[in-house]
Formats: sequence, structure tokens, C-alpha cells
Amino acid sequence: MTNEPYAVEDLQAELRAFRAERDWAQFHDPKSLILALVGEVGELSELFQWIPADRALAEFSSGSRQRRAAEEMSDVFIYLLNLADVLGVDLLAAARKKLEGASSRFPAEGVRGRAPERR
Ligand SMILES: [Mg+2]
Repeated sequence: MTNEPYAVEDLQAELRAFRAERDWAQFHDPKSLILALVGEVGELSELFQWIPADRALAEFSSGSRQRRAAEEMSDVFIYLLNLADVLGVDLLAAARKKLEGASSRFPAEGVRGRAPERR
């Protein structure tokens, strides 16, 4: 690993090469990737399962719990990127578009300090 600039596209290219070298594209249909993604979200949530909400930040901000959370978050991220790749979705562009929409729907001056309400 280097400190060179590294973009989402770079990681996706590495994931594509990893998949190709193992001939795993045959297993990376959208349904299978979504199930794998959900499984990894489950593994991440399991880490937090019995930690009281008011202690979670302190418990997972350092040490072995932070490392375990990072591992599971990476699994989630990797499966999400694989899914985006298979579906031809530019995930960074799509996420930026969602953020723009959220900024319009929830102007800071109207919601500051309040949880968003369902519309
Ligand atoms: Mg995992």
C-alpha cells in the first residue's frame, strides 16, 4: 500500500482484477452480491448488538473493536462496489446526487438539531 492518490475507481479496478483472477464473475450476479452485502451488514451490526447506544461511540473508536468494525465496514463497502460495478452504476456520482437531493429536501436552517421526519 502506498500513499498515492487512490480513488473509488482504483479500488473497483483492483476488485475487478481480483474477481477475474479467480474466475468469480460467474458468482457475482446482482442477487448473490446483495445477499452477501446484507450478510456483511449483519456481521457489522452483530458487533454492536449488545453494546448500549450511549457507549457505542467510545467502545468502537479505538482498539480491537474499531479494527473489527473497520473489517466489516470494508466487507460492506467491497460488496457494494462490486454490485455497483456489475450493474454499471457510478456509485460516487449517484451518492453525490443523493446528497444534493437531501440538501434540497432538508435545508440546514429548517432542520438543524432535529431528526428528519418522514414525508
Ligand atoms: Mg465480514
